[in-house]
Amino acid sequence: MIIVANLKMNLVKSDVDQYIEYLVSSGENLESLWIAPQALQIAQFKKDLKSVPIGLQNAGLTEKGSFTGENSLSTAQSYGVEFVILGHSERREVFGESPDEILKKIQTAQAQSMKVIYCVGENLEDRKNNRSYEAISDQLQILTEVKKKNVYIAYEPLWAIGTGLLPSPEDISNMNEHIHNSIGFWMEGLLYGGSVKPENVHSLKKSKHLGGFLVGGASLDPAKLLKLLKSVG
Ligand code: PEP
Repeated sequence: MIIVANLKMNLVKSDVDQYIEYLVSSGENLESLWIAPQALQIAQFKKDLKSVPIGLQNAGLTEKGSFTGENSLSTAQSYGVEFVILGHSERREVFGESPDEILKKIQTAQAQSMKVIYCVGENLEDRKNNRSYEAISDQLQILTEVKKKNVYIAYEPLWAIGTGLLPSPEDISNMNEHIHNSIGFWMEGLLYGGSVKPENVHSLKKSKHLGGFLVGGASLDPAKLLKLLKSVG
C-alpha cells in the first residue's frame, strides 16, 4: 500500500525544513510514501528526500504557453516530478474545474508519462439520495478517453474530506467494486481519501481492492504520517 501526502497550500520554508528533518532522522522506511507539496517546495523535497516520489497537486491544461501562474506538466516532468493529483474535489468545487478540463490534464500528463491520481467522490446530497454510485460513474466517464495506464483512482467522498466523518470499510469495498465493474481492472491502484488518521487506518485498510490512502490533514504532521506508513507497511 502507498500513502500519498497531499500537503495542499500549507507549510512555510521553516516548516518544510523541520518536516523533512523529522522524516529523515526517524530512519524509518519511506518506501511507501509519495508527497504532493506546493510547487514552490518541490525542489527542496526532491533534494532532501531523494527516494520519495514527488508530485504536483494540479497542473496547467497544456504543456506550455502564455498561462501566467500555471504549472506545466512537461516542465514538472523535466524536474523529475513523478505524479500529479487531478480532479481533486477542491479543484472541482472551489475552482470550478470541468470534466473536460480534467480530461485534458490527464491526457497531457500521460503524454509526459507521468502518473496520475484521479480523484472521484460523491457529495453529501448524492449520498443522502442514494446517488453515490451514479455520481462516481459520471466522474469515471472521462477515463474512457485516456490511455489505460499510469492512472490511480482515489475515492474521496466529499463529505469525508477534512470532516472527521468516515465511510465504513464495507462502503469503501463496495465503491471499489463498483469502480472495477465500471471501468475494468486496468488502473494502477485504488486509493481511499477523507479524514484518514493513524487512529482509523487499521480499520479502513480492511477495505477490499485498496492500494493505499490519499491523506490531507494528518499528513501535515510528520509524526502522524510515519504512524500511517507503519500501519500500511
Ligand atoms: C484530501 O483533501 O485529499 C483529503 C483526503 O483530506 P483529509 O485527509 O484532510 O480529509
